[in-house]
Amino acid sequence: MSAPVFIEQQLQALKSLLATPKSVVITTHYKPDGDALGSTLGLKSVLESLGHRVTAVLPSEFPMFLSWMSGADQCVDFMQDPQKARSVLKNAELLFCLDFNDPSRVEKMEGDLLQTNCTTVLIDHHLDPKPGFVHLQFSYPSVASTCELLVHLLLSMEMDGHLNRESAEALYCGIMTDTGSFRFNSVTAATHRVVARLMEEGVRNDDIHAAIYDTSSVWRMRFLGYTLHEKMQVLEEYKTVIFTASQADMQAFHHASGDLEGIVNYGLAIRGMQVAVFFSERDGLVKISFRSKGVFSVKEIAEKHFEGGGHRNAAGGRSSLSLEKTVEKFIALLPEYNPASNQI
Ligand code: 5GP
Ligand code: MN
Repeated sequence: MSAPVFIEQQLQALKSLLATPKSVVITTHYKPDGDALGSTLGLKSVLESLGHRVTAVLPSEFPMFLSWMSGADQCVDFMQDPQKARSVLKNAELLFCLDFNDPSRVEKMEGDLLQTNCTTVLIDHHLDPKPGFVHLQFSYPSVASTCELLVHLLLSMEMDGHLNRESAEALYCGIMTDTGSFRFNSVTAATHRVVARLMEEGVRNDDIHAAIYDTSSVWRMRFLGYTLHEKMQVLEEYKTVIFTASQADMQAFHHASGDLEGIVNYGLAIRGMQVAVFFSERDGLVKISFRSKGVFSVKEIAEKHFEGGGHRNAAGGRSSLSLEKTVEKFIALLPEYNPASNQI
């Protein structure tokens, strides 16, 4: 696949929205990841350079390993300061929704998001956007990350001149994290062209990689070892690997936001495995992270059985059953979906 082809009318509509200075709010999904925060802060910087007043409103905190991004310290966190978040949302003239396509993905902020009466623009790469959610929709599921999509959009509108090193680094980070450091099959020649454009701004790619992947706490590393040793179930018959983390496990290892990130991928590092699933207790629910290889779709299982969704090879969901019962429910579904019957 090459670069996304935008509809000229839509580009014009976005350009005209940005033609005069406005109060802009940018938001993204609950528990923002590299792509979510990177696209939010990358766009914020570009819009500020165009003369807009921009506030990033997040539905929740982001992990520490993203705090180096320029503008991260100015984000309004809905969970920490709901009043401020509400008032900023209420006074917005233009609202961007990045890296999500269903209002439920902002969790407790959903009501406030839906109550805004300003113009709303979606820029996202998840499948099946919720109909009628926004006024102007740039939904391109074939693009590997929202950050990549955003740079294609900026290039198409000839606004990439408003990038600088800081915004380019935030956007680079989103592309790097959503592509597993450029290794997933979602990566295209166009991805690398966008990266080349960002590198021209002076992106320090080695520092960004280190900031994301080489900043684990000692506790996080011990937790990883414990999980791999004690909490990993390999179902050879179904080419599936299951991990669990209870509240007690997380407390024992001084859990910090972001500590579970990436552990699920170790399941797919085992020879022959096609599916890896991480079940963790969180806020009275079980949060589930699904990963798969090749044509096997975890999105479908997440959507149909665990109130979630995402992409074919990376999806998420939840369950209000206990941790044990949730795992049992998943295992009971395996004969029906059987990942082992799929070819890579
Ligand atoms: P993660 O496992 O890293 O939390 O999420 C993997 C992918 O699934 C991401 O693309 C994320 O946007 C999506 N995802 C995670 N949780 C949910 C959810 O509850 N609902 C939906 N629709 N997508 C989710
Ligand atoms: Mn993304």
